[in-house]
Amino acid sequence: MVEHADDDATTEPILRVDDLEVRYQDVIVGLSGVSLEVARGSIVAILGANGAGKTTLLRAVTGLLPVHRAKITRGQIVLDGRRIDGQSSTAIVRAGIAQVMEGRRIFGELTVDENLRTGGFTVRDKAATAATHAKVMGWFPKIAERRGQRAGFFSGGEQQMVAIGRALMAQPRLLVLDEPSLGLAPMVVEQIRQIIVDINAEGTSVLLVEQNASMALSIAHRAVVLENGRVAREGSADELRNDEKIKDLYLGMGTAGRRSYRDAREHYKATNAAAAARAGAAQVGDA
Ligand code: ATP
Repeated sequence: MVEHADDDATTEPILRVDDLEVRYQDVIVGLSGVSLEVARGSIVAILGANGAGKTTLLRAVTGLLPVHRAKITRGQIVLDGRRIDGQSSTAIVRAGIAQVMEGRRIFGELTVDENLRTGGFTVRDKAATAATHAKVMGWFPKIAERRGQRAGFFSGGEQQMVAIGRALMAQPRLLVLDEPSLGLAPMVVEQIRQIIVDINAEGTSVLLVEQNASMALSIAHRAVVLENGRVAREGSADELRNDEKIKDLYLGMGTAGRRSYRDAREHYKATNAAAAARAGAAQVGDA
């Protein structure tokens, strides 16, 4: 069963992406006509094979496209009723979106406390920052015990906790997580999964890109599947979990027996080619 934060989300989503097109270096299309919503208080998972556009979507939402010589060439992104597309990444953090980057990018030379402080730089209210710090320590007792130690020496799971804690210090209304379970042992993945559920239960909406689709669909309310920069499928997590194609491509339960979607792109190509061949054969048969 999915552990929901609250099911009575208001009609205005916390995040709305409308007809988004992104190009790299003015030419390479990263996203094309992508529309999606994150309902207030919900978790939305973004699934897709390598090169599907997941990272590009996160870069667009967090204002990091310019760093990668990319820009939004059509459409808009609306956070809580206000357009944020075109704003700087700092302005977007201030507006209420914080990201945990892929690969747990923490400052290894800094202590846990110092790392957390860097996450709270946009918050001016000192009392609120102290309260959030206390909350983060409560969520992550393991790193709380070692708050004065350099984070660079921590295990992968502990570094991920520091990275999530740092993002939370910005007091986001929307937490964006890029592959939080990547490279972590199953037991640690389960801890991170539970932490995301707990954070969401306290009211923070979550946009989650995750190569572990089964983990993502076990906590998400809804999911969006990207394929070649477009939305190929959108639905409730329950619907997608029971969808044969999704099972086959992403959940390792179908005929292909996959455990992740690393090789899903190849599989897509093969199944699409087979379908095209069948359609071609049918047309020849019809003629
Ligand atoms: P992965 O899991 O492999 O990171 P992804 O779903 O995150 O895949 P993106 O990295 O967003 O996919 O890629 C979407 C498209 O944009 C691909 O065609 C990719 O080649 C292109 N792209 C991504 N980053 C760049 C870049 N820095 N410069 C040029 N093209 C890029």
